Amino acid sequence: MRCLTDRVLVIGLGLIGGSLASALRSHRICRTVIGYDRDSEEMATGLRLGIIDVAAEDLLMEAAQADVIVLAVPVKAIESVLAELLPVLRTETIITDVGSVKGNVVKSAKALFGEVPPRFIPGHPIAGSEKSGITAADATLFEHHKVILTPLPQSDREAVTLIARMWQTVGAEVLQMDVARHDEVLAATSHLPHLLAFSLVDTLAREQDCTEIFRYAAGGFRDFTRVAASDPTMWHDIGLANKSAILQKIDEFSAGVQRLRDAIETEESQAMLGIFTRAKAAREHFSKILSGSAYTQNMKIKDATFFAQPGGQVQGTIRVPGDKSISHRSIMLGSLADGTTEVTGFLEGEDSLATLQAFRDMGVVIEGPHQGAVKIYGVGIHGLRQPPGPIYVGNSGTTIRLLSGLLAGQAFDSELSGDASLSKRPMERVAKPLRLMGAQVETGENGCPPVKIKGGQALQAIRYEMPMASAQVKSCVMLAGLYAAGETRVIEPAPTRDHTERMLRGFGYAVDVAGNQVSLSGGGSLQATKIDVPADISSATFFMVAAAISPDSDITLEHVGINPTRIGVINILRAMGSHLELLNEREVGGEPVADIRIRYAPLKGIHIPEDQVPLAIDEFPALFIAAVCAEGETVLTGAEELRVKESDRIQAMVDGLKILGADIEGTPDGAIIRGSEMGGGVIESHDDHRIAMSFAIASLRAKGVIEIHECANVATSFPNFVELAQQVGIRVRKEEK
Ligand code: NAP
Repeated sequence: MRCLTDRVLVIGLGLIGGSLASALRSHRICRTVIGYDRDSEEMATGLRLGIIDVAAEDLLMEAAQADVIVLAVPVKAIESVLAELLPVLRTETIITDVGSVKGNVVKSAKALFGEVPPRFIPGHPIAGSEKSGITAADATLFEHHKVILTPLPQSDREAVTLIARMWQTVGAEVLQMDVARHDEVLAATSHLPHLLAFSLVDTLAREQDCTEIFRYAAGGFRDFTRVAASDPTMWHDIGLANKSAILQKIDEFSAGVQRLRDAIETEESQAMLGIFTRAKAAREHFSKILSGSAYTQNMKIKDATFFAQPGGQVQGTIRVPGDKSISHRSIMLGSLADGTTEVTGFLEGEDSLATLQAFRDMGVVIEGPHQGAVKIYGVGIHGLRQPPGPIYVGNSGTTIRLLSGLLAGQAFDSELSGDASLSKRPMERVAKPLRLMGAQVETGENGCPPVKIKGGQALQAIRYEMPMASAQVKSCVMLAGLYAAGETRVIEPAPTRDHTERMLRGFGYAVDVAGNQVSLSGGGSLQATKIDVPADISSATFFMVAAAISPDSDITLEHVGINPTRIGVINILRAMGSHLELLNEREVGGEPVADIRIRYAPLKGIHIPEDQVPLAIDEFPALFIAAVCAEGETVLTGAEELRVKESDRIQAMVDGLKILGADIEGTPDGAIIRGSEMGGGVIESHDDHRIAMSFAIASLRAKGVIEIHECANVATSFPNFVELAQQVGIRVRKEEK
């Protein structure tokens, strides 16, 4: 590789200076690395260990000839070193530093030069350790770490680029930041924790029986205080150099400790749990950011392929993951209720977790989720607090639309935003009725997120005839209706999922349902309840169809939600002749639930009644497999919506089934499927989880191996699909790339 420059002079051969010098040499970034330290021993060691090419006998002479000078001395020493160099510095020489505080370095440069020279580029590697001195130098120290450069408006672009490339070449990721922001951020994330560690160890060490205390200290103490072994002079300098930002963070921290102290003193469990659960959730979220797997990176999940061996049957009793719609609403209504709501079977998917985080941001104490268990300490209908910033809902359309209604009735202003794909989805459909109620709602470009809501508006009930059938719009208006004066009434053009009205009733709120009209009056309250979130009937469908098509099968699916707006699959399978029983029917939080037992019986083709189509819309990919395994012809009509789901599901199923040799024809609004044999083949699922799972169960009746591509998204709705499938006898395995 061509060298970036000729002579680099590193002043201060300690941990950072030594590590950089060593990395510069090993990556051949410059022709000569010259090292200088006031301690000649350090220079001798640098030469001996091959960290530098040349030890600077005469600092000023070397500085006069250097192309780049790196100041790697303690922050407080930077000004005096610069002052010493001043008389010999050439204007073309690029200077940079590695100091942990940037404001004071810039101030020193201004004081000495009158203005910060354009080729002085302040920098700070976010890498290091509690060790110091050249013997701790490590050429790999900066790999996969960040380096923050804080150039100024007058900074020379070429100089910024060269310093950035120098750090990138030694393996670092380079970011740029404003000087003041750098010092503020570092005060919080680095300086405060170091100072706390020093202070904690010092406090404990003063106690009389400190030897005893330290002897019994466990891993937590060691982790927390590791950095108290850092260099005292360096931290003395940092403490003074970043004084005002650090003092502010110490004050904020002291106030936080005081809140915790008060909560402990007064034995306020809820306040204590609030602090701990919020911190735990934030720490987990930060861990994801630190490991690069936070929300924004989720789409980069590994590619997965399913391989399904032909034949077999299904046997056993299983419970599939919880219903997403009910998981969302259990958090929302539990938060608004009086008392503590306990939820089990909560679906720990990204979408419902976004709802959970939103309510934490609004001051609700929520414990969990831990293996599907969540405990919500309701704050009452008027108890939400203004979130500290915009509420980020990731990819969850349900969260943003339902919360819009709820937030329209709050006393505080709020803003809802989401990821790139959610930011393209229409929000005016909820904003319009909310405005009719007197809410002040603003949507972004083209009526998409972000949604900004002005609090403190007196909402009036409305009678709203929905222009399109949408459970989200209906729910949004009803949730706003909780805060409106009078009776809010929503009229649907066609039936949609009714989880909100059922669950409101489950929480003790009076909701009137008559035909296609739903109404409620504002001003009531919700009572906490217990919710064992029913298993999702859409996920259960794959196993229902699996048992329905494979001889000798007998499977029981426990605790499945059988909301009347979702049970099309049960009605259709029964009409096709399948042996399906609903056992142990009961109600949970307003939602009907049953165990579903399904045993093999030969299926026959039917014309699927169009009134069942909206009630089974997500279940058709699996029902297509059932139709191929039935005798005679199955005709589906009135299902054009299938073409605009995660994939064009009609096309994806027709293409895949044809590859397996099935007799199927697609039509604009459905398909004609004739009972036929299936062989093996390679199927594209088009990243559509339901297509992937449908072809996995098709293997039970196939004559050859089915290989299904792009199955990673199965994890978003049904994380343990492969494990449960294997458990009941489907011979499918997953390979991840
Ligand atoms: P270090 O290991 O103590 O090294 C500093 C070196 O600079 C020592 O060899 C010291 O010599 C020398 N030095 C001090 N004053 C000098 C002067 N006036 N002229 C010439 N040499 C002088 O410290 P470090 O950890 O490398 O820190 C260096 C800089 O990096 C600091 O500004 C620090 O804020 C920054 N930094 C440190 C870390 C970290 O984790 N350690 C991380 C990022 C940035 P003596 O031994 O004789 O004092």
